[in-house]
Amino acid sequence: MRRAGELSHSYLSGKARPVSVRWVGNQNSRWGSATPAERTIRLSDKLQGMPAWVVDYVLLHELSHLLVAGHDASFWRLLEAYPDTDRAKAFLEGVSYATSRGMPAEESPPVED
Ligand SMILES: [Zn+2]
Repeated sequence: MRRAGELSHSYLSGKARPVSVRWVGNQNSRWGSATPAERTIRLSDKLQGMPAWVVDYVLLHELSHLLVAGHDASFWRLLEAYPDTDRAKAFLEGVSYATSRGMPAEESPPVED
């Protein structure tokens, strides 16, 4: 919540005002989600341990969805001021790619076969 307030202040003129930001463990395909009607944001706990500029990007992305629902040009304009948007998107695409190729996103015990 504290970081969400800082990011909203820095990049969205404080216009995005979530009432709740929480970690969730059951989002398998999404890094984050937002419900504008309730002003709630959920972040995948798979983000924990990733670089701060990646987590900030996902949080700012979801904060922006409190203002613009879709991914049209006006949405991406909200993210233009954040300096690591392209890098963070590429990082997350890389994680998704590696995971889809069987490289685990999280450490798991080795399996003998
Ligand atoms: Zn989005």
